[in-house]
This record gives sequence, structure tokens and C-alpha cells, in this order.
Amino acid sequence: MSNSLQAVRGMNDVLPDEADLWTSFETAVNGWLARYGYRNIRTPLVEHTQLFRRAIGEVTDIVEKEMYSWRDELNGEDLTLRPEGTASCVRAAIEHNLLYDGPKRLWYAGPMFRHERPQKGRYRQFHQYGVEALGYAGPDIDAELIIMCAALWRSLGISGLRLELNSIGSAEERADYRRELIAYLERHVDRLDGDARRRLHSNPLRVLDSKNPMVREVVADAPLLPDYLGTESRAHFDELQRLLVAAGIPFELNPRLVRGLDYYNLTVFEWVSDSLGAQGTVCAGGRYDGLIAQLGGKPAPAAGYAIGCERLIALYRETAGAKEAVVPDVYLVHQGNGTLTYAMELAESLRGAGYSVVMHAGGGSFKSQMKKADASGARLALIVGEDELAAGAVTVKPLRGKGDQESLVRGDLLRWMEKLLPARYAGAVTAT
Ligand code: ATP
Ligand code: MG
Repeated sequence: MSNSLQAVRGMNDVLPDEADLWTSFETAVNGWLARYGYRNIRTPLVEHTQLFRRAIGEVTDIVEKEMYSWRDELNGEDLTLRPEGTASCVRAAIEHNLLYDGPKRLWYAGPMFRHERPQKGRYRQFHQYGVEALGYAGPDIDAELIIMCAALWRSLGISGLRLELNSIGSAEERADYRRELIAYLERHVDRLDGDARRRLHSNPLRVLDSKNPMVREVVADAPLLPDYLGTESRAHFDELQRLLVAAGIPFELNPRLVRGLDYYNLTVFEWVSDSLGAQGTVCAGGRYDGLIAQLGGKPAPAAGYAIGCERLIALYRETAGAKEAVVPDVYLVHQGNGTLTYAMELAESLRGAGYSVVMHAGGGSFKSQMKKADASGARLALIVGEDELAAGAVTVKPLRGKGDQESLVRGDLLRWMEKLLPARYAGAVTAT
């Protein structure tokens, strides 16, 4: 296959076996979000480029070099595939005045796009679950956001995630700190790389986040942000820590933790795994009290985080073990004059009763169809031939476990099946 007919580099197919794992993951996560009272919001994959420039910040990895942006010549609009979900979520909340009757707990999920160098745990299309609490100011919400993460890891059977926590204070406190940091970095400019030098004056906090070992050495002795917190910021941070301790959630204070997006203030945190190699952060977030106003909304505080699905699912895969493939309940074998409509009608009525039924398609002898039935993993084969059609009957053959082939009157089939296997999707459709 020529290269241009293969998937785009860094953008992955999720094949059915793997997708079963994703579905099981999503079912768990959706239930967890509902239990905490968060409601789903769905926004477009494409937004005006300006939204991200404004929200994430000009001097950030994402805006400087990772966005898929283009000009839509037809409308003369500058557009971007979303690199993250918070900006869109806040934009939608402002546009639809969602906070008019009070704060909102929201979540979103879906693909994000960043033009990064693909490697394990880092892709150009990846997926996030995002959780946003809009309109809440207190550390109680910061604590809730973090506590709910811990509950999710537990319910997914994932252990060994470390919580790193920091407070980056208010904009004014950061301005004081920034001056000190710039002065310090200027003294060590000979050991900074190009990125760090460029950011030294435009966005020096981002230098703290550098992944270059030489720069990290410099950063190790830099002044620490938490030393610049005022009384209010300190109180917010103390109360958050008190609530986490009370909830039995261990954390590590990391005074050098800053986030790669400009909109954060006060609380920032990351959940990190040591078993994923360099791409160990599975969840990251914090408070972003200024963002709503910055995007033109009525000022309101907010906090949230995003989970990197590929990285978390990599951990979930280990604990979930090899998930059994999702197999049909029934494989329906049919052959002979007039049997197709009878078989189709039978399949529909079983589906209506909550069973998953795969109809054999493509003809072939009974023998070859039965081979397909076996290979499908189904629990039960139903066989319909001209004899069954004439008698208004159906032959059943258990494919797993014990039980012999037998012939049933059609009207008895459902009762017989209920004894053998409970319907998995009951309630989905009305039985006929
Ligand atoms: P990193 O420092 O790893 O680049 P980030 O600060 O850019 O992360 P966020 O924007 O905070 O990441 O995104 C939240 C989470 O989304 C990350 O912690 C990670 O789990 C996941 N994530 C971010 N970028 C990617 C990517 N390119 N591929 C896969 N997952 C990603
Ligand atoms: Mg990044």
C-alpha cells in the first residue's frame, strides 16, 4: 500500500479486540462521571484558531508548534483541529450562557490533535476525557476533582499512580516570582537551550517544564513558586491539602510543577505512572479562574483536568488482563428455499428480546456454516432449514459447554433460551 493510503503517522486505528477494551473502559468512566454528578457536553472538533491562541497562550508548545491549523479559503476563516478540550468547553459555556443559573459540572471526551513527534504514549491524534467544574471557587472542588480521580483508578483496578501537587498562585504572585526567575535564569543563560532562551523573557515558567536534562539541572536550583504565595493562595492550598489528607489521598508536593498551558492558577496537579516510561502523566489539570473572563465571559472561577486515554488504557490493559472478546450469543445458520425470511424474522425477534444474534451471510452448506458458527465464539447455534420452516420449528445446538442439539417449536424458543443464557441487552428493544 502506498504511504498516502495508510493511516497518517501518529494517528492510530483501534481494531476490534482493542476496541472492546476501550468500550469497557468508557463504560466504567461514564458511570463514574455520572456518580459524581458531571454532565456531558459535546463540542465540535474544529474551532477558530484564535480560541486556542487566546486560551492556551501564544508562547506554549501547543500554540507555537503543535496545532493543526489552516485557512478555510471559502470563508476566509482560520481554523484549528482542537488540541485540547477546555477552551471549547468554556467557549460553549459562554456562548450558551450555561452558567446563568449557577455553576456547572461538565465532562467531554474525544480525539485531540497535536503535531508532536509520535512515540509510545504520544500521538498526533489521541483521546482525552476532560472534567470541568465551571463557576466554583473553593478548594472543596479542587479536592473533589482529585478525589474522584483516585476513585476511578480504584474502580479500574489501576494502582501505583502518584499524585503531584503544586500551587502556582495568582497572576500577581506569579509576576513577582517571574522577575526573580528571569534574573536567576539570566545568570545561567549559557546552560539553557534554544527553547529555554527564547522563553526566558516571554514565558519563563515554561522553562521549569523543560524536558532537556541540562536545563533541568539549572531549574533544580531555581527559586520556587510556592515561596511567593500570598495569604489567600496559601490558605486555598492548605485547605486542599487538608481535604486530601482527610480523604486518605497521598500526594507529593512538587514546587516545580507548572502546566504546559497558560490558563492555570492556584492548584495544579498531575497523576503520574512510573510504568509507562517517559510519557508517564496520565491525567493533568488544575484551576483556571481567569479563563472564562479571558474568553469574553462574565468572570467566573473554574477548575478541571484531562485524562489521556491511550496512557490510562495502557495501564488498564494490564489490570483488566486479556479481556474476553465480545462474542455473539447466537449464530443463526440457515439454508433452503424460503428459509432466509424466516431466519431474519427469528433473528429480529431474538434481538428484540435482548440477545445478540449474528445471521450467517453468504450461503454455503450447513457444514461450512456450522464451522463459521463455531469460530464466531457464539454460545448457541440456531439452525433453520426447510424442515424447520415447514414445521414452524427451530433446531438449537449449544456450541459451548454441555447440551445436545434438539428441535423446538418456535413459540418455545425464548423460554428455552432464557434458561440457557440470560439476555444481555434486555430492555434495549421491545420483544416481539
Ligand atoms: P506532556 O507534558 O506529556 O506533553 P501536556 O502537558 O501537553 O503533556 P495536557 O495538555 O495537560 O498534556 O493533556 C492532558 C493529558 O493528555 C496528558 O497528561 C496526557 O496523558 C495526555 N496527552 C497529552 N498529549 C498527548 C499526546 N500527544 N498523545 C497522547 N496523550 C497525550
Ligand atoms: Mg504536550
